[in-house]
Amino acid sequence: MGVMGGTFDPIHHGHLVAASEVANKFGLDEVIFVPTGNPWQKEGTTVSPAEDRYLMTVIATASNPRFSVSRVDVDREKSTYTVDTLRDLRAQHPNAELFFITGADALESILTWQNWEELFELAKFVGVSRPGFELGVEHLANHLRSLPAGTLTLMEIPALAISSTDCRLRAGENRPVWYLVPDGVVQYISKRNLYRPRGALRLDGS
Ligand code: ATP
Ligand code: MG
Repeated sequence: MGVMGGTFDPIHHGHLVAASEVANKFGLDEVIFVPTGNPWQKEGTTVSPAEDRYLMTVIATASNPRFSVSRVDVDREKSTYTVDTLRDLRAQHPNAELFFITGADALESILTWQNWEELFELAKFVGVSRPGFELGVEHLANHLRSLPAGTLTLMEIPALAISSTDCRLRAGENRPVWYLVPDGVVQYISKRNLYRPRGALRLDGS
């Protein structure tokens, strides 16, 4: 079972390709997308309501029978830490082997800031390439050597230079996000007037 954590503000095709590529490589039965509750890395910056991010993730993944969305982080009161996400999912799926999927940028902070010995007991980790970021864990090489093979796999995936930050900027300036995010997410952003200055007119004029 794959676990794809993220803020998903909004979810975009970079996230979906990463999940699909890892699922195919490891023969996963399912990938669970887990939108963060209150993301600790992003405290002090404005993040859209968890419910909007959750719904966009549901919309984006609905057509894929192997993709699902979990509310474990959205429903937890405290800030989201990967270790809590994995503990909760492990409790819900005691017999599943978990593969935590992360882009090259997030991999670094997860392994640097958190108790990664415990993380590796809860799941295997798959780091995927992302344009603009180095996919490497050389600085952790000493620690990694002591861990069983397969604990962390690095994987090249098709390069999609898409970020949620850029999608938010685009939506805020009335530039297109078509083809960067799934069609239903374009429509949801417009319907809920996300990423627009407060009081701005909705894109559909209502
Ligand atoms: P933001 O710009 O707000 O940080 P983001 O595009 O980085 O948004 P996140 O929700 O922060 O999206 O990322 C969730 C996970 O998806 C992270 O592990 C991140 O590294 C990975 N990811 C995001 N975009 C891509 C991409 N284009 N290619 C590969 N991995 C990606
Ligand atoms: Mg990010």
